[in-house]
Amino acid sequence: MPYPVGTYRADWERYPVLIRQFHPDLNRGITLTQIPPAAEVFLVWQCEVGHVFVATPDEQRNRPGGRRRRSVWCPICAQQANPPRIRPTLPTPPPPRATRASRRRRDDPSTRLPGDAFWSAVAPGPASAAEADLRQRLGLRFDFDLSFNAVAVARPFFDRLEVWPDIVLPDLRVAIEYDTVGRHGLEHVGSKEESDRRKDRALRAARWEVIRIRCGKLLPIGPYDLHASAVTERLMDRLTTTLAEVRGELIVRSYLRR
Ligand SMILES: [Zn+2]
Repeated sequence: MPYPVGTYRADWERYPVLIRQFHPDLNRGITLTQIPPAAEVFLVWQCEVGHVFVATPDEQRNRPGGRRRRSVWCPICAQQANPPRIRPTLPTPPPPRATRASRRRRDDPSTRLPGDAFWSAVAPGPASAAEADLRQRLGLRFDFDLSFNAVAVARPFFDRLEVWPDIVLPDLRVAIEYDTVGRHGLEHVGSKEESDRRKDRALRAARWEVIRIRCGKLLPIGPYDLHASAVTERLMDRLTTTLAEVRGELIVRSYLRR
Protein backbone atom coordinates (compact mmCIF):
# COMPACT_ATOMS: atom_id res chain seq x y z
CA MET A 1 0.00 0.00 0.00
CA PRO A 2 1.74 3.21 -1.09
CA TYR A 3 2.06 6.15 1.30
CA PRO A 4 0.51 9.58 0.54
CA VAL A 5 2.12 11.51 -2.30
CA GLY A 6 5.08 13.54 -1.04
CA THR A 7 5.85 11.46 2.05
CA TYR A 8 9.36 10.49 0.92
CA ARG A 9 10.11 13.52 -1.23
CA ALA A 10 13.13 14.62 0.80
CA ASP A 11 14.66 11.13 0.72
CA TRP A 12 14.47 10.90 -3.05
CA GLU A 13 15.59 14.44 -3.84
CA ARG A 14 19.19 13.37 -3.33
CA TYR A 15 18.92 10.98 -6.32
CA PRO A 16 17.93 13.08 -9.34
CA VAL A 17 18.98 10.35 -11.78
CA LEU A 18 16.58 7.92 -10.11
CA ILE A 19 13.76 10.45 -10.16
CA ARG A 20 14.21 10.62 -13.91
CA GLN A 21 14.42 6.85 -14.31
CA PHE A 22 11.17 6.30 -12.46
CA HIS A 23 7.94 6.69 -14.39
CA PRO A 24 4.60 6.34 -12.57
CA ASP A 25 2.99 4.94 -15.73
CA LEU A 26 5.39 1.98 -15.57
CA ASN A 27 4.50 1.48 -11.87
CA ARG A 28 0.71 1.45 -11.72
CA GLY A 29 0.54 5.22 -11.25
CA ILE A 30 2.48 5.25 -8.00
CA THR A 31 4.94 8.13 -7.61
CA LEU A 32 8.40 7.81 -6.13
CA THR A 33 7.53 10.08 -3.18
CA GLN A 34 5.06 7.40 -2.01
CA ILE A 35 7.72 4.72 -1.70
CA PRO A 36 10.08 4.43 1.30
CA PRO A 37 13.67 4.30 0.02
CA ALA A 38 14.23 1.11 2.01
CA ALA A 39 11.08 -0.65 0.79
CA GLU A 40 11.58 -4.23 -0.40
CA VAL A 41 9.52 -3.78 -3.54
CA PHE A 42 10.36 -4.37 -7.16
CA LEU A 43 9.91 -1.24 -9.22
CA VAL A 44 10.19 -0.73 -12.96
CA TRP A 45 12.80 1.81 -14.08
CA GLN A 46 13.79 3.15 -17.47
CA CYS A 47 17.23 4.57 -18.10
CA GLU A 48 17.89 7.55 -20.35
CA VAL A 49 18.82 5.28 -23.25
CA GLY A 50 15.49 3.49 -22.91
CA HIS A 51 16.40 0.21 -21.17
CA VAL A 52 13.57 -0.97 -18.95
CA PHE A 53 14.58 -3.04 -15.92
CA VAL A 54 13.33 -4.11 -12.50
CA ALA A 55 15.11 -3.27 -9.25
CA THR A 56 14.34 -2.45 -5.64
CA PRO A 57 14.87 1.13 -4.42
CA ASP A 58 17.80 -0.11 -2.38
CA GLU A 59 19.51 -1.76 -5.34
CA GLN A 60 19.15 1.45 -7.33
CA ARG A 61 20.50 3.70 -4.58
CA ASN A 62 23.45 1.45 -3.95
CA ARG A 63 24.76 1.00 -7.47
CA PRO A 64 28.52 1.34 -7.12
CA GLY A 65 29.93 4.72 -8.04
CA GLY A 66 26.44 5.85 -8.91
CA ARG A 67 27.15 9.52 -8.55
CA ARG A 68 29.81 9.77 -11.22
CA ARG A 69 28.53 8.33 -14.49
CA ARG A 70 25.00 7.98 -15.68
CA SER A 71 25.55 4.57 -17.20
CA VAL A 72 26.13 2.89 -13.84
CA TRP A 73 22.58 3.70 -12.79
CA CYS A 74 21.33 1.16 -15.37
CA PRO A 75 22.47 -2.47 -15.29
CA ILE A 76 22.19 -2.83 -19.07
CA CYS A 77 24.18 0.35 -19.80
CA ALA A 78 26.75 -0.69 -17.20
CA GLN A 79 27.27 -4.02 -18.92
CA GLN A 80 27.54 -2.40 -22.35
CA ALA A 81 30.10 0.08 -21.06
CA ASN A 82 32.13 -2.75 -19.54
CA PRO A 83 31.40 -5.93 -21.50
CA PRO A 84 32.85 -9.25 -20.36
CA ARG A 85 36.07 -9.89 -22.31
CA ILE A 86 35.58 -13.24 -23.93
CA ARG A 87 37.94 -12.73 -26.87
CA PRO A 88 40.25 -9.92 -25.92
CA THR A 89 42.14 -10.10 -29.24
CA LEU A 90 39.13 -8.78 -31.17
CA PRO A 91 38.77 -5.00 -31.22
CA THR A 92 35.75 -3.94 -29.20
CA PRO A 93 33.30 -1.86 -31.22
CA PRO A 94 32.57 1.50 -29.63
CA PRO A 95 29.50 1.43 -27.39
CA PRO A 96 26.37 2.75 -29.07
CA ARG A 97 25.95 6.48 -28.63
CA ALA A 98 23.73 7.23 -25.68
CA THR A 99 20.76 8.24 -27.74
CA ARG A 100 17.30 8.68 -26.32
CA ALA A 101 14.79 5.91 -25.87
CA SER A 102 13.28 5.71 -29.30
CA ARG A 103 15.39 7.99 -31.42
CA ARG A 104 15.64 5.40 -34.18
CA ARG A 105 11.87 5.01 -34.30
CA ARG A 106 11.46 8.78 -34.33
CA ASP A 107 13.93 9.26 -37.19
CA ASP A 108 11.69 7.20 -39.45
CA PRO A 109 8.45 9.08 -40.25
CA SER A 110 6.58 5.84 -40.90
CA THR A 111 7.14 4.55 -37.35
CA ARG A 112 6.80 7.84 -35.49
CA LEU A 113 3.96 8.07 -32.98
CA PRO A 114 1.95 11.14 -32.00
CA GLY A 115 3.81 12.84 -29.16
CA ASP A 116 7.26 11.72 -30.31
CA ALA A 117 9.80 14.54 -30.37
CA PHE A 118 12.20 14.44 -33.30
CA TRP A 119 14.53 16.50 -35.45
CA SER A 120 12.72 17.92 -38.47
CA ALA A 121 14.84 19.24 -41.33
CA VAL A 122 12.00 21.45 -42.54
CA ALA A 123 11.33 23.22 -39.23
CA PRO A 124 12.46 26.86 -39.18
CA GLY A 125 15.39 27.95 -37.02
CA PRO A 126 15.15 30.39 -34.10
CA ALA A 127 13.06 33.38 -35.10
CA SER A 128 14.82 35.91 -32.88
CA ALA A 129 17.82 36.56 -30.71
CA ALA A 130 15.50 36.54 -27.69
CA GLU A 131 14.32 33.02 -28.49
CA ALA A 132 17.94 31.85 -28.84
CA ASP A 133 18.74 33.55 -25.52
CA LEU A 134 15.82 31.76 -23.86
CA ARG A 135 17.05 28.40 -25.19
CA GLN A 136 20.57 29.08 -23.97
CA ARG A 137 19.39 30.06 -20.50
CA LEU A 138 17.25 26.91 -20.32
CA GLY A 139 20.32 24.84 -21.21
CA LEU A 140 22.40 26.58 -18.55
CA ARG A 141 19.79 26.05 -15.86
CA PHE A 142 18.55 22.55 -16.74
CA ASP A 143 20.05 19.33 -18.02
CA PHE A 144 17.34 19.06 -20.68
CA ASP A 145 17.67 17.38 -24.06
CA LEU A 146 17.35 20.39 -26.38
CA SER A 147 18.23 18.56 -29.59
CA PHE A 148 14.72 18.27 -31.05
CA ASN A 149 12.67 20.86 -32.93
CA ALA A 150 9.43 19.05 -33.79
CA VAL A 151 6.66 16.97 -32.23
CA ALA A 152 4.64 14.40 -34.16
CA VAL A 153 0.87 14.93 -34.05
CA ALA A 154 -2.04 12.71 -34.97
CA ARG A 155 -3.78 14.96 -37.48
CA PRO A 156 -2.26 17.23 -40.13
CA PHE A 157 -1.30 20.73 -39.06
CA PHE A 158 -0.70 22.80 -42.20
CA ASP A 159 -0.51 19.55 -44.20
CA ARG A 160 2.14 17.95 -42.00
CA LEU A 161 1.90 15.44 -39.17
CA GLU A 162 4.24 17.57 -37.10
CA VAL A 163 4.34 20.89 -35.28
CA TRP A 164 7.38 23.05 -34.65
CA PRO A 165 7.36 24.67 -31.21
CA ASP A 166 10.10 27.23 -30.57
CA ILE A 167 11.54 25.02 -27.83
CA VAL A 168 10.84 21.29 -27.46
CA LEU A 169 11.40 19.67 -24.06
CA PRO A 170 10.85 15.91 -24.55
CA ASP A 171 12.04 15.21 -20.99
CA LEU A 172 8.91 16.94 -19.67
CA ARG A 173 6.71 16.75 -22.78
CA VAL A 174 6.45 20.52 -22.66
CA ALA A 175 6.64 22.91 -25.62
CA ILE A 176 7.67 26.52 -25.03
CA GLU A 177 6.72 29.28 -27.43
CA TYR A 178 8.17 32.76 -27.39
CA ASP A 179 5.56 35.03 -28.94
CA THR A 180 6.11 38.62 -30.05
CA VAL A 181 4.17 40.63 -32.59
CA GLY A 182 7.33 40.83 -34.70
CA ARG A 183 8.95 43.68 -36.55
CA HIS A 184 5.77 44.58 -38.40
CA GLY A 185 3.34 43.94 -35.55
CA LEU A 186 1.63 41.17 -37.50
CA GLU A 187 2.75 37.96 -35.82
CA HIS A 188 0.47 35.96 -33.50
CA VAL A 189 -2.43 38.38 -34.02
CA GLY A 190 -5.73 38.03 -35.87
CA SER A 191 -6.10 34.75 -37.74
CA LYS A 192 -2.60 33.74 -36.63
CA GLU A 193 -3.84 33.53 -33.06
CA GLU A 194 -6.34 30.89 -34.15
CA SER A 195 -3.56 28.80 -35.71
CA ASP A 196 -1.57 29.16 -32.46
CA ARG A 197 -4.57 27.78 -30.61
CA ARG A 198 -4.91 24.91 -33.07
CA LYS A 199 -1.24 24.11 -32.64
CA ASP A 200 -1.67 24.05 -28.84
CA ARG A 201 -4.68 21.74 -29.15
CA ALA A 202 -2.70 19.39 -31.41
CA LEU A 203 0.11 19.24 -28.84
CA ARG A 204 -2.26 18.66 -25.92
CA ALA A 205 -3.99 15.91 -27.86
CA ALA A 206 -0.53 14.27 -28.06
CA ARG A 207 -0.22 14.59 -24.25
CA TRP A 208 2.12 17.56 -24.37
CA GLU A 209 1.64 20.83 -22.49
CA VAL A 210 2.35 24.27 -23.91
CA ILE A 211 3.78 27.31 -22.15
CA ARG A 212 3.65 30.48 -24.22
CA ILE A 213 5.76 33.44 -23.24
CA ARG A 214 3.66 36.31 -24.50
CA CYS A 215 5.40 39.60 -25.05
CA GLY A 216 4.14 43.15 -25.26
CA LYS A 217 0.47 43.48 -26.06
CA LEU A 218 -0.06 39.74 -26.61
CA LEU A 219 -2.33 38.37 -23.90
CA PRO A 220 -2.12 34.81 -22.54
CA ILE A 221 -4.14 32.26 -24.53
CA GLY A 222 -3.39 29.14 -22.46
CA PRO A 223 -3.57 28.19 -18.76
CA TYR A 224 0.21 28.30 -18.23
CA ASP A 225 1.15 31.26 -20.41
CA LEU A 226 3.45 33.94 -19.00
CA HIS A 227 3.47 37.59 -19.90
CA ALA A 228 6.91 39.13 -20.29
CA SER A 229 8.74 41.99 -21.93
CA ALA A 230 12.20 40.43 -22.26
CA VAL A 231 14.21 37.30 -21.50
CA THR A 232 15.61 37.82 -18.00
CA GLU A 233 16.59 35.63 -15.06
CA ARG A 234 13.36 36.74 -13.40
CA LEU A 235 11.47 35.28 -16.36
CA MET A 236 13.53 32.07 -16.05
CA ASP A 237 12.46 31.82 -12.39
CA ARG A 238 8.81 32.19 -13.37
CA LEU A 239 9.24 29.63 -16.13
CA THR A 240 10.83 27.21 -13.64
CA THR A 241 7.84 27.66 -11.32
CA THR A 242 5.43 27.07 -14.20
CA LEU A 243 7.25 23.94 -15.34
CA ALA A 244 6.92 22.65 -11.77
CA GLU A 245 3.18 23.40 -11.83
CA VAL A 246 2.83 21.48 -15.08
CA ARG A 247 4.96 18.41 -14.35
CA GLY A 248 5.67 18.47 -10.61
CA GLU A 249 8.42 20.11 -8.61
CA LEU A 250 10.32 16.89 -7.90
CA ILE A 251 10.81 15.94 -11.54
CA VAL A 252 11.62 19.50 -12.67
CA ARG A 253 14.17 19.99 -9.89
CA SER A 254 15.83 16.71 -10.83
CA TYR A 255 16.94 18.38 -14.08
CA LEU A 256 18.45 21.45 -12.39
CA ARG A 257 22.17 21.70 -12.91
CA ARG A 258 24.00 21.97 -9.60
ZN1 LIG B 1 20.47 1.73 -19.90
